Amino acid sequence: MKRLEVDRTKLSPGMKQYMEIKDEHEDELLFYRLGDFYELFFEDGILCSRELELTLTGKSAGLEEKVPMCGVPYHSVKPYIEKLISKGYKVAICEQLEDPKNSKGMVKRGVVALYSKGTIVDYDMLNSHDSNYIASVLDFKTNYILTYADISTGDLYLMELTYNKEKLINKILSLGIKEVVLSDEGDLELISLLKNAYSLEVSINREYLENKYENIYKNIKDYRFITGIKHLLYYLVVKQLKELEHIKEVIIVNPDDYLRMDIHTIRNLELVETLRLKERTYSLVWLLDKCKTSMGSRKLKNWILNPLKDEQTITKRYDMITKLNEEFIILDELRDDLNEVYDLERLCGKVVCGVLNARDVLQIKKSLIYLPSINKNVEKLGFPYEVEEFKDLYKLLDNAIYEEPPIGLKEGYLIKDGYNSELDELKKIRSGGKDFIAALEEEERKRTGIKTLKVGYTKVFGYYIEISKGQAHLVDPSFGYERRQTLTNYERFISPQLKEKEALILNAEEKIIELEFNLFNEVKEEIKRKIIKLKEVAEIISELDAIASLAVCASEYNLVRPNIIKERKLEILEGRHPVVEKVIKDDYIANDIIMGEEVNTLLITGPNMSGKSTYMRQLAITIIMAQIGSFVPAKSCTMPLFDQIFTRIGASDDLVSGESTFMVEMKEAKNAICNATEKSLILFDELGRGTATYDGISLAQAILEYINTFIKCKTLFSTHYHELTSLQDNFKSIKNVHVEAKEQDGKVTFLHQVKDGPVDKSYGIHVARLAGMPDKLLERSNEILKIYEDNDKINTSSGVQVSFDFESSVKEENKVLTKLKEIDPLKITPMEAINLLYELKELDK
Ligand code: ADP
Repeated sequence: MKRLEVDRTKLSPGMKQYMEIKDEHEDELLFYRLGDFYELFFEDGILCSRELELTLTGKSAGLEEKVPMCGVPYHSVKPYIEKLISKGYKVAICEQLEDPKNSKGMVKRGVVALYSKGTIVDYDMLNSHDSNYIASVLDFKTNYILTYADISTGDLYLMELTYNKEKLINKILSLGIKEVVLSDEGDLELISLLKNAYSLEVSINREYLENKYENIYKNIKDYRFITGIKHLLYYLVVKQLKELEHIKEVIIVNPDDYLRMDIHTIRNLELVETLRLKERTYSLVWLLDKCKTSMGSRKLKNWILNPLKDEQTITKRYDMITKLNEEFIILDELRDDLNEVYDLERLCGKVVCGVLNARDVLQIKKSLIYLPSINKNVEKLGFPYEVEEFKDLYKLLDNAIYEEPPIGLKEGYLIKDGYNSELDELKKIRSGGKDFIAALEEEERKRTGIKTLKVGYTKVFGYYIEISKGQAHLVDPSFGYERRQTLTNYERFISPQLKEKEALILNAEEKIIELEFNLFNEVKEEIKRKIIKLKEVAEIISELDAIASLAVCASEYNLVRPNIIKERKLEILEGRHPVVEKVIKDDYIANDIIMGEEVNTLLITGPNMSGKSTYMRQLAITIIMAQIGSFVPAKSCTMPLFDQIFTRIGASDDLVSGESTFMVEMKEAKNAICNATEKSLILFDELGRGTATYDGISLAQAILEYINTFIKCKTLFSTHYHELTSLQDNFKSIKNVHVEAKEQDGKVTFLHQVKDGPVDKSYGIHVARLAGMPDKLLERSNEILKIYEDNDKINTSSGVQVSFDFESSVKEENKVLTKLKEIDPLKITPMEAINLLYELKELDK
């Protein structure tokens, strides 16, 4: 039965109401609250019964057939929602909006919460080490505007990207964005790639938020930026019902400020997760993250993914690390304090999203305790931070919030004694039932002169005044007593005063709960007023924590401060790959990486398993560490700052289905060749091996020649093709190095030592032996090798000579390029454009 095809006129009023709400939430699975259950109907019901393994039943709704339905108990709904979100669904929660007791007819219902991957504010569902970004992408035909936010922390960023879909997707993936909001379905290719190839959530929103949260973009002039922000805000505020008071401003990110790495590089270098198992353990962030707070961990990860290019900022971080390691006692104290600070960023998010409970408030309070001490140490260190101490807020929280509150807010026990006199009074009444009886009894005895008068309580009658039959005649109308019950020996009365007190006592519990809830909300509002300042402190703490973590790494891993130079010269002495070193410990063989200004390419030869790709990765990791402001794993390191790193290393993670490994390899190589500048680093690991030998050699040689002729960036190129090693003779900028292996009694030992010059043997068969191949097979391959080697000696001279004449084409291309670079398309008329086009054609002749 399809929802949109049923005859709505026949539906029961209840189901009609459901239909109206569901019409507004086509994209989401609608969890519809009925009594103690959330129910899902029609297609939603069928889908959820399958995905959540629930029984599919039916509900009578006025139609001949029952409507398909499945249900989830409301008190255990969370794991079900989590499961659906992780599978990429969106969920809308529909609740009763009024108390059925007070409503006539159908109870009002409405959607009160929406969940999707990019907008989770349920903190148990978030990974504390990762940011959770949702992004809007607007296509302005000449550029993309990427606006992205983590609403669990209130961080909002914006980036203008060149009009290149590949780069856009790369950025989305490397930022770890979970959900993308587009303004229409126009770009089917983009939608399909994001959704199918990279499993991201894609939503369409055609509207823009007006007249709300304008302060976020009040200082922004560029209308495209404002449009991007309004687009994302509309989706969050109107479609996702999110509160965003914790977003103070938008940070405009200029991608040119950071060392650029595409997603392949981030993956190949295992910066945040390992290639094979996709785990954090054994990644660079795993190695360097010694942060005490989750905020610090997220900051550090962000730094690793966005290394800097500005020497001043980088060296400032080096200075801080040096200082922290000199003042190691302060470093320890600082880290002890940081250890006590909770995730203030996400707690701020909770305040705004309305999911803050009293335990969270206590976490804020406990964090505030350590701010003065952190501040003092920051001052001692002379760091450029000032941490606001929130003394008043601390006092308020300390006075108000009970030390062991429950998770819920409707159970009482949230507010401390002495904070509010009305609450204290109510609590006294609640706990003082007995005192009250004794006091009243005494008072009434005095007032009436009846010595045997007693005040008692039963569940059925409540409080009463009991007088023995013998004394009952003494009851005077002026007492205001009213007879309620006659027992064998006693008469029981009530009085207006007694009933008033009784109401007080019996209602006290209810009132306490309500009052505590209101008082708690007042406290929450007070925190909300301070939210922007709290976020600023959270930002400082996260930076301090990240830098302290790098300082600890510097001493623990024996790292050295890099020396940044302007010349294009690399001299890394006794460098190490820090993660491999951590795993194999003392067995790691340190290696130099020396490339003078005149050397652009190291051509690395050596047997399989000798350590070629480790050597290449080692360089990239060292550069990344240096440019995030960390010390590096070497005895000494002199290097320039790089603008981009490109890699083609190891097995390709062939995400885009339908493309051969070789195709992916070539695409990655093309990406590097077309985008690298003189200041970039390229790492090519056995490029070309995915095709026939001569094909591969020719491609590899042409690529090397191209890089050394046109790009002239630093390149490490490992290869099995010995033929390539002769390139050094024709290109002064190419230098051969090899990783040593020793052969003794038919056995190979890898020394992992990088030496000058090419290697003379490939040892592939030895590696096959190491892998446990059958002896017979190995013998045969040795025979075949011999035949090939003998043939080679007859057929070829040494290597394939350089034959491409790139030099002449460079000049011509440069003229066209130079002219092109001079043109600003935004400043010329169509007529000028056509003239320029003719000019360019002339230049190309
Ligand atoms: P290749 O790229 O030459 O096939 P790898 O770089 O993958 O070789 O290295 C193979 C293994 O050798 C690594 O897993 C590592 O354990 C070890 N290795 C690499 N470099 C070193 C080194 N410098 N010191 C010690 N062991 C190393």
